[in-house]
Amino acid sequence: MNTTISYTTLPEFEFVSPNTLKETLSLLNIHQSNAVVLAGGTDLLPELRHRIKQPKLIIDVKNIPELNELNLNDKFLTIGAAVPVTKVLTLPKLDSLFTALYQSLQNFCDEILRNRATIAGNIATSSPAADSAGPLLVFDAIIEIQSIKKGKCTVKIEDFFKGVKQNCLEPDELITKIRLPIPEEETKSAYLKMKRGVEDIALVGVTGASNRTKTLFAYTAVASTPILIDVSAILSKNRNQTKEDLFQIIWKQIQAKIQPISDVRSGKDYRFHIAEIYTRIILREFLK
Ligand SMILES: Cc1cc2nc3c(=O)[nH]c(=O)nc-3n(C[C@H](O)[C@H](O)[C@H](O)COP(=O)(O)OP(=O)(O)OC[C@H]3O[C@@H](n4cnc5c(N)ncnc54)[C@H](O)[C@@H]3O)c2cc1C
Repeated sequence: MNTTISYTTLPEFEFVSPNTLKETLSLLNIHQSNAVVLAGGTDLLPELRHRIKQPKLIIDVKNIPELNELNLNDKFLTIGAAVPVTKVLTLPKLDSLFTALYQSLQNFCDEILRNRATIAGNIATSSPAADSAGPLLVFDAIIEIQSIKKGKCTVKIEDFFKGVKQNCLEPDELITKIRLPIPEEETKSAYLKMKRGVEDIALVGVTGASNRTKTLFAYTAVASTPILIDVSAILSKNRNQTKEDLFQIIWKQIQAKIQPISDVRSGKDYRFHIAEIYTRIILREFLK
């Protein structure tokens, strides 16, 4: 049997709070996997208490100006890696331009945690249930990463997740920002989350985004990573079908790609059931 011990104290570690990106990258370069980054700490602190992580050095990145950028212009929404969810939610037009992202952030933890938690921390933890993952997938987010060794590079969110709590980040790499291209005009999107209580992670999360050129769905908590499914081709090939037949064709494709498991939050069949219902609700809105 797997037991998790939760200590009342944290393990011993050194703590630094650099003011520059250069210093942070250089610390990560020196200490590699002996160091961990702290943004909001809402995932990291429980991991320290459970001794899942026992780093020698914790690097707080909240004071780095470049990581606190939050900007919406006519090309991109840019979210710095240290920007808390509460602040992202204050952006004017977030709800109309990126409805699914807005809805997922409103459903994220509770008000207190949203004041600390970041989107970068959410994807860096790489839980299959990460609330921000579905919206980032359907909006083609680009993750900007920096390290001393590789300099600045970008990774598409689709290529970021590698498994349960695994991603493409090397120990010396830091997410600096997340960029989302402004969606095509008249893009509709939505995020639906089934959870057990107010501040629970999703037992199923379904995101959809649709415009004249493409229709995408993303699923969380139903596979080892958040997954993106492009149904644009099926939709355009089957436009003359009834809405119900169209849904059945699309659902068949989605059902073959998701692999929910049974765990403490839900049984596998219930997860399938909710994923189907939420997909139907979102698709119905798109076909109006
Ligand atoms: C009570 C509770 C409720 C929660 N509810 C939800 C929920 O509803 N939905 C949900 O999705 N999650 C939920 N979570 C999980 C957590 O709050 C989120 O995943 C949050 O977004 C993590 O962000 P953070 O800034 O706190 O990350 P941190 O805890 O600071 O960091 C998390 C991990 O990411 C790494 N990291 C952070 N920033 C960077 C960076 N810039 N570059 C590289 N690595 C980095 C850290 O080293 C660490 O390994 C909940 C957690 C708790 C404790």
